[in-house]
Amino acid sequence: MSERTRAAVYIHLPFCPYICPYCDFAKWRWEPARAERYVRALHAELQRAGETDGTTRPIRAATLFFGGGTPSLYAPEVIGALIAAVRARFALPAGAEISLEANPDPGLVERVGALHDAGVSRLSIGVQSFVAAELRVLGRRHTAGDVADAVAAARAAGFDNVSLDMIFGVPGQTAQTWARSLDAALALEPEHISCYGLTIEEGTPYAQWFARDPKAFAAENDEAAFYAQAMHTLNAAGYEHYEISNWAQPGFACEHNRGYWRNDPYLGLGVGAASYLDGVRSIHTRDLERYCEAALAGRPIPGDAERLEGAARLGEAIMLALRTDEGVRLDRFRERYGTDVMDEYREVIDELVSAGVLAADARALRLTERGRFVANDVCGAFLGG
Ligand code: SF4
Repeated sequence: MSERTRAAVYIHLPFCPYICPYCDFAKWRWEPARAERYVRALHAELQRAGETDGTTRPIRAATLFFGGGTPSLYAPEVIGALIAAVRARFALPAGAEISLEANPDPGLVERVGALHDAGVSRLSIGVQSFVAAELRVLGRRHTAGDVADAVAAARAAGFDNVSLDMIFGVPGQTAQTWARSLDAALALEPEHISCYGLTIEEGTPYAQWFARDPKAFAAENDEAAFYAQAMHTLNAAGYEHYEISNWAQPGFACEHNRGYWRNDPYLGLGVGAASYLDGVRSIHTRDLERYCEAALAGRPIPGDAERLEGAARLGEAIMLALRTDEGVRLDRFRERYGTDVMDEYREVIDELVSAGVLAADARALRLTERGRFVANDVCGAFLGG
């Protein structure tokens, strides 16, 4: 048998108990019949995914990640059956990281033990804020108390890898309320914390609100100040800032996401899911019905695909690596892409270094502290080259 491609496997579970007004993910309201049919479609896709025609290599799963949506709405047996299917189909090794995104609602407290027993090893809880007024503005229905209960239940169930997701730049947020949220998160001693700046996505109720009243939202300067506050607080608490939006206690960086930033292969299953295999990046339709129909009929899932080659492939790899604290390791890039990044991007690098947003030495390129504030611009400079 030919050598297998090691790939991170992602499963999208797109249903939510309610829809948050800022959200742009592929998601729908939970309806039992629709959620059940979707899982059948997923199993059908799983059986065919990664089939090889002789020109591509079979897949071996490195990690598994259930994202959404709100994956924790599904019964733990459903999650367990999907894990078993991935193990059987893609030889997911015992002990591999298996993450699941969860909403801190009271239902999670009841399910968390069974989720752990089903094989989930890492729980990523969508907290967003510990401040009641901000949770209301975000349309979230949980409370700070629910988060504490969820973390306590996760610990009691045996989870030793818990991540909390937070949002800054929420309308009405101040340095004081952000400090309260960060402190409350730290008090729960999670192994991992993600902090994302709120983005206004087209077509969402937040976009309409922004069009009516842009002043209600944090200005760029305020966003930068919130981000600086997160860096200062979390770094001081001993968390490693290992990626622009992610902090972890030593040894608890998310392996699955690390694979994305290393530009390693990944296989996405489900509606709207993306894959990167054998140099081809593809994305499934975001139309739930089309997805289910195709998967259940055993047809290829509709979507788009593009082959990343040459400068596009290298630029993408640089952009991803720059997001991490390791940065672009020049020797590894030379070995993997057969190109000297310093030679290829000499002008861009010189410019960014003189602007103080990029640091370059003989071994690596990395964002400077200042560069982290304008990461999208710095990383984008390597695209399309
Ligand atoms: S719970 Fe998450 S995925 Fe669902 S609507 Fe809210 S932000 Fe979107």
